[in-house]
Amino acid sequence: SAVEAGLYTASDQVILLSPENVDSVLINSSAAVLAEFYASWCGHCIAFSPVYKSLARDIKEWKPAVDLAAIDCAEEENRKVCTDYSVRAYPTIKFFHAYSKDGSLGQAFKASSHDVRVLRHRIINKLENHAEPWPPACPPLEPTSQAEFDSFFDTNNVQHLALIFEDTKSYIGREVTLDLLQFENVAVRRVLSSEAALLNKLGVTEFPSCYLYSPGGNFTRLKVNIEARTFYSYALKRLPGVVRSGKPPPVVVDVRTNSTEKPWRPFNRSRVYMADLESALVYSLRVELAAHSVIRGEALTALNKYISVLVKYFPGRPVVMNLLKSVNSWLQNHTASEISYEALREILDNTAQVPDTALPEGERWVGCQGSQPHLRRYPCGMWTLFHVLTVQAKNTGRSDPQEVLSAMRNYVRSFFGCRSCAEHFEIMASESLVEVNTFSSAALWLWSRHNRVNNRLAGDLSEDPNFPKIQWPSPDMCPGCHTVKDNGEHKWSNERVLSFLLSHFSSGSILSDHLQ
Ligand code: FAD
Repeated sequence: SAVEAGLYTASDQVILLSPENVDSVLINSSAAVLAEFYASWCGHCIAFSPVYKSLARDIKEWKPAVDLAAIDCAEEENRKVCTDYSVRAYPTIKFFHAYSKDGSLGQAFKASSHDVRVLRHRIINKLENHAEPWPPACPPLEPTSQAEFDSFFDTNNVQHLALIFEDTKSYIGREVTLDLLQFENVAVRRVLSSEAALLNKLGVTEFPSCYLYSPGGNFTRLKVNIEARTFYSYALKRLPGVVRSGKPPPVVVDVRTNSTEKPWRPFNRSRVYMADLESALVYSLRVELAAHSVIRGEALTALNKYISVLVKYFPGRPVVMNLLKSVNSWLQNHTASEISYEALREILDNTAQVPDTALPEGERWVGCQGSQPHLRRYPCGMWTLFHVLTVQAKNTGRSDPQEVLSAMRNYVRSFFGCRSCAEHFEIMASESLVEVNTFSSAALWLWSRHNRVNNRLAGDLSEDPNFPKIQWPSPDMCPGCHTVKDNGEHKWSNERVLSFLLSHFSSGSILSDHLQ
């Protein structure tokens, strides 16, 4: 289909245009839209597509104000759309104002750069010059004056005003304003370093710097490791009362549970709990696999590999390991081309009553508890389990650095109940799993793909408001993981992330009980 043949998939943060949706996306939309018209065979387009994808991930939070779209003009069925929009060369990028009129061909947008930062700044320039009507979700981007500052809380009902003091040429203030546009209880404005009177009054001398101003008149510097966009955005999203719009405010101390629910167990958010890993195993083996009454072919291979990496690398309690070992030897000795779940279930239940061999009775979530029963839990446990396995393999693995990830890929493809998750994961795996050639790169691959999923799901219905999706670990969990390039763009220190993962998910750091 057009979607598969093109340079973008449903997993990218890019709207895939087709003759059916093109007019509703580009015309009369409440958001401005940047649309790439490309041909899948054209070399420049192929070279540009990773840049466009990173741009889309980078400005994901800006979607209500400005969104990205793309259409493959090499696709027969899209020809007419590309002709109608007067596209003759690829790639052509056009900027469509919010509420563009029928027949609008969009404005030219220079795509000569392969630098996400340059493209992002051009988008801001376009937004700043946006004609009326302004996209309603787009906050004001112009600098704040002394007058606006003095009467800010008379007209704005927010708990925090974040002021970013910067030079005229700096884009940080506008970037952070857009990064926070989906968040309530905080407004962001830029103040230019030329506002001498205001700066004197407030005693601000460093640029860029960010200060918080509250309705009570408090004026305090925002503490960050590095004065840069990402650090400001991380910190502002964590301010008390700041929540994604349209979500109930997170309850910090006492998370609601209804009376039929198990009681909430307090836990340390920066630790890994054995109870979650075991619960993921229980759910996967007793519930998810049970959906397959007969397991054969690819699914049987997936099951074999899954159990085999668990036996090798799961740092479990001896009783659980004994159970996994008996499942493993049963599977190894099983020569028929299929197994029934019922037969597997007897091993899982240890009906032969081998001593000291058992899976826990039921699920008992701790670090993966959700504020509501349909949130977190199993998928949270599954991610955690595989992070632990990649880290254990790094410590003890001997041969194949892809072993754990390919077991995960096969498990997810054959069994993971969330089918759209499985499709997205398969796309990521098929794109880049081959590049994994060391145990360290396997742990880092899973970390970075998990972050990609976090980026895609931020703000989604499946996000627990008490556990917002962030690019993990945050600067307060691992300050050294975050750095900036010379141009101020955020950069992960892969070396520091790796040591953080190796320690965070190591068997020695896993807590055996929630009270610890
Ligand atoms: P999770 O994302 O489940 O993370 C669990 C814990 O891992 C976090 O609390 C944190 O401590 C830690 N963590 C977070 N990020 C990282 C990281 N980058 N590296 C290491 N550790 C990290 N849901 C969908 O709606 N659509 C999907 O397409 C989708 N695909 C999925 C694919 C897979 C393979 C899996 C296992 C799950 C998928 N999910 C998907 C579910 C989704 O990713 C979350 O698991 C779920 O929303 C619960 O989120 P959570 O807040 O508990 O955190």
